[in-house]
Amino acid sequence: MPHRPQPSSYTPATAILALGDAFYDPVAPADFPRTILRFRNQRWAEAVGLGDLDAQAWLAHFGRFAPLPDNLPQPLALRYHGHQFRVYNPDIGDGRGFLFAQLRDAPGRLLDLGTKGSGQTPYSRFGDGRLTLKGGVREVLATEMLEALGVETSKTLSLIETGEALDRNDEPSPTRAAVLVRLQHSHIRIGTFQRLAHFGLEDEMRTLVDYCLREYYGEESGEDGSARLLAHVVGKTAALAASYIAAGFVHGVLNSDNIAITAESFDYGPWRWTPFWDGFFTAAYFDHAGLYSFGRQPEAIHWDVVQLARALTLVADADALTPSIEQFPALFQAALTASLFARLGIAAKGEESDARLLVAIETALAQKTVEIDRFFFDWRGGRRRGPSPADEAYRDELFVAVADLLRGYSPVPGATDHPYWSDAAPCSMHINEVEAIWSRIDEADDWSALEAKVAAVRRMGEALATS
Ligand code: AMP
Ligand code: MG
Repeated sequence: MPHRPQPSSYTPATAILALGDAFYDPVAPADFPRTILRFRNQRWAEAVGLGDLDAQAWLAHFGRFAPLPDNLPQPLALRYHGHQFRVYNPDIGDGRGFLFAQLRDAPGRLLDLGTKGSGQTPYSRFGDGRLTLKGGVREVLATEMLEALGVETSKTLSLIETGEALDRNDEPSPTRAAVLVRLQHSHIRIGTFQRLAHFGLEDEMRTLVDYCLREYYGEESGEDGSARLLAHVVGKTAALAASYIAAGFVHGVLNSDNIAITAESFDYGPWRWTPFWDGFFTAAYFDHAGLYSFGRQPEAIHWDVVQLARALTLVADADALTPSIEQFPALFQAALTASLFARLGIAAKGEESDARLLVAIETALAQKTVEIDRFFFDWRGGRRRGPSPADEAYRDELFVAVADLLRGYSPVPGATDHPYWSDAAPCSMHINEVEAIWSRIDEADDWSALEAKVAAVRRMGEALATS
């Protein structure tokens, strides 16, 4: 179950400093001409004790990056490498973001406040270090929708328009600019480990393994530390991949620098939701080979985790790492059942029967006669509810087979209690809707469509959270 926000007091924790200077570079934020608040995530601000900040203090901390009390004195650009579309790139790192602060929530989890679009760093290469406002709005929408659908994701804490004009070749330009603050358990990536392996930094690799085990998995260091860490990451990334599939989400750029060691989904660029169960559906216009298409995401994430294992061989025996890697497919299958059943609001019965239902659902949806969101909405609790525009499609034998199997399943308690389940249509996040929300902002500076959508998404999240 993904973490839900619960009120907490402000608890600064600069754990990252224990890693030492070799892991980051102190940097300065850009000096923006303006700071105009566009999105404030009050639910999650309260979960890290920042809910009481007044409007002025919010802009000072998340637009000007005035340090938070007893927190990092200066932002840190984190160092990392990574495979981008399977090609190793040693020239990346935090090029338009930095770690701004760390804190703990009520359950004691270490959380990072990271930025996107906060200015240039030693890793900007030819980039301007900036984020477009449209990119920021898209990240708000993606994170809210994923959170509601039960995907463990970074949260968008703040979006502030900065008054700059940017040139981009994938947006009509000049285009408006923004700076975003995200809240996430960890910004340490598979690429962080790859960089250490690339330079043969054994001591630093041991330090990083111990840090991740301690801070993210609550375990002590030891001889078998790398193997234990890898086992955790395999389990969590398999669950992440499964939750993407159940959500119908296509991240778009599953490079190894975009996979966090805590396996939270993050770094949203060209993402899309696929309307239909279409394995070839691709989000990024530059992903010509469809490497990160909807159906290939589990394989892509598995490949990234193999790169983590390869990096860990700097300090660990390969034989100790292989068994975890080999478990990924089975863990993914189990997690996919769990994710799909959670979305349907039904209780699992047993491996064999559950696998049969899973195949039946995938086969029926693959005909592309019923949209993913519509299917899960109509069959919530395992029974057809109310008339649906898809009723004709449900008469098809493949859907009849699904219905027959579903009859043997029980709904989880409260599965359909929420009034959302009596709406005429499910809440979706298809590209036409995203573009329409952006058009209102772009053409009329009208933010009401974004606000209404976030409210609708959170309401769906409440409806789904009953199971
Ligand atoms: P991404 O594809 O967003 O994961 O980014 C890959 C790399 O490019 C990272 O090192 C980013 O920091 C960097 N990058 C992306 N956009 C910019 C930009 N506008 N300015 C500077 N660096 C950027
Ligand atoms: Mg990235």
